[in-house]
Amino acid sequence: MTEKGSISIHAQNIMPVIKKWLYSDKDIFLRELVSNGCDAISKYKMMALKGEAAEKEAYSVNVTVNAAEGTLTISDNGIGMTADEIKKYICQVAFSGAEEFLKQYKPDSDESSGIIGHFGLGFYSAFMVSSKVVIDTLSCTEGAQAVRWVSEDGMEYEIEPSDRTVQGTDIILYINESDKEFLDKWTVRSTLEKYCAFMPVEIYLNEIKKDEKKADDSEKKADTENPSETEADKDADKPELVNETHPLWMKKPSECTEEDYKKFYTKVFHEYDEPLFWIHLNAEFPFNLKGILYFPKLKNEFSSNEGVIKLYNNQVFVADNIKEVIPEFLMLLKGVIDCPDMPLNVSRSALQNDGYVRKMSDYITRKVADRLVSEFNTHREEYQTYWKDIHPFVKYGCIKDEKFYDRVKDAVIYRTTASEYLTAKEYKTKNIDEGKDFIMYYTSDEKRQAQMIDMFTAQGRDVVIMDTLIDNNFMSFMEYSARDDKIQFRRVDAGLDGLTDDVKADEEAQKKLQEIFREATGEKELDVKLVSLKSDEMPAMITVDEQSRRFSEMSRQWGGGMDIPEKRTLTLNLKHPLVDYLRSTSDDADTVKPVCEQIIDLAEMARRPLEADRMVAFLKRSAGFLTKAVENK
Ligand code: ADP
Ligand code: MG
Repeated sequence: MTEKGSISIHAQNIMPVIKKWLYSDKDIFLRELVSNGCDAISKYKMMALKGEAAEKEAYSVNVTVNAAEGTLTISDNGIGMTADEIKKYICQVAFSGAEEFLKQYKPDSDESSGIIGHFGLGFYSAFMVSSKVVIDTLSCTEGAQAVRWVSEDGMEYEIEPSDRTVQGTDIILYINESDKEFLDKWTVRSTLEKYCAFMPVEIYLNEIKKDEKKADDSEKKADTENPSETEADKDADKPELVNETHPLWMKKPSECTEEDYKKFYTKVFHEYDEPLFWIHLNAEFPFNLKGILYFPKLKNEFSSNEGVIKLYNNQVFVADNIKEVIPEFLMLLKGVIDCPDMPLNVSRSALQNDGYVRKMSDYITRKVADRLVSEFNTHREEYQTYWKDIHPFVKYGCIKDEKFYDRVKDAVIYRTTASEYLTAKEYKTKNIDEGKDFIMYYTSDEKRQAQMIDMFTAQGRDVVIMDTLIDNNFMSFMEYSARDDKIQFRRVDAGLDGLTDDVKADEEAQKKLQEIFREATGEKELDVKLVSLKSDEMPAMITVDEQSRRFSEMSRQWGGGMDIPEKRTLTLNLKHPLVDYLRSTSDDADTVKPVCEQIIDLAEMARRPLEADRMVAFLKRSAGFLTKAVENK
């Protein structure tokens, strides 16, 4: 009664996909076969719902590892297949039974049917790891004959009647010698956890130990003799449930508690820090999309802060971090996204050009921006406490995506050195006189630039802190791209606007002082200015033109060793007695020189550490001055 045949292949359909598999992970075969089992059960349930099949007590997919036999079996108690169905759905590659079934049993409501298959190719992934594949199945259609299908290469097959009496399907894989890892329970479990953790039907993992068969027989005897012992044995080999059939993201947000969200976060991302907040995406329109996005607490700048976005299709895991679907800047988040309608088995480059995918990605971006703005508007205090964790993400998003910037710009805040948080508008109102240019003063290093910061804050002006890597890019973005605020950033050592008063310095004196300092330092190009500072504490300051400093920093970072000097200016404070002394002194050069050197070193030290040689000279000179001060007492 054995019938032979040969599998027909719609080559144009299968080739691209088979190629893709060659490059992707082998372990997806398990996802495909388990999801087929889930599909078979979903189909059965739909028939039962229509009264075309009897309700069952329990539905499950069982994955059984049998290392002794070299097999991995995936069995389900779903609809099963008749011989004709096997020939039609299995033997004609790329002819998906799922689609045909759905046409026939289209659910009345708009709700998705929960059926995973679409492409009619999944089953063949079994041949990536198997030297032989057996299907043993009994269809639930009345009077059906159980059948057994065997193929060694996915090309030639044999099909014959089977003595199976239980409805459902077993897929038995004879695992290749080179793929033996799939006979290891741990590997199978972690593969199931990776792909099947949220599939909609209960999935159990079983293991048959080496001599279980023999043990089985003796057990039967033992059974009658000593029943309590068998009880314990059974316990030891209990099937393990590996999935959660109702993942949190499929529930309505109103049904989920804060606790639920936190637990889910810990479980899925193995993350023990609590998330800052989260967004539960739950859209039916314009597309069917569900998911939860978490804003993680940032670790320090040097440890990896990479996020993970897990993409699902009807509760079946597809991949992590598919950047064609998730905007790049959202990759700092952690979360799950489930889009049942997404074309999955197509290449990434096709995804990139897919209008649906682009709209979905825009939608996610919009939701994230809206949530940030609403957090800012309704819980500003709290928002400020986690701003330090989310600001790199927000700034990165602004730079990468103008639409995101437009939505979120009013929720971008700046922390001042006084630990206040201001929006750009608030900074402007507080610090900038009507009609004046909008310049925001910042520090890139609060400790290093403390003296300059002090001078600004003493005048009642706010200095904001911009000390992370992203800040430089963000400031350029704000100045050149986000022109609507006409904002300019200037580091506290870049200028003295607002720190000087109206007292005019005479040009003669300025020229003279420039000569003295050029002479003393040997810097022939040194630019010296004489101004009247509001404060008389410091004799001099070094300022560096903002643009030239940024350019120089950039070329140091990217220019491969090219050294573009910064435009420095030594600004002398005409209110300071030391400057007075230099202007009017007739002392000889040997006396004047160390004073100039000391002044310029002090000014330099207020913004950066001195080089070793210069530091040594500075310390010696300082000791000399102290000695003189004591001697002259
Ligand atoms: P897809 O799932 O995309 O339709 P597959 O290659 O995974 O493609 O499966 C092809 C078809 O074989 C399925 O649509 C289904 O009709 C049938 N099939 C596969 N596995 C089972 C199973 N365990 N029980 C019943 N039918 C199955
Ligand atoms: Mg399938």
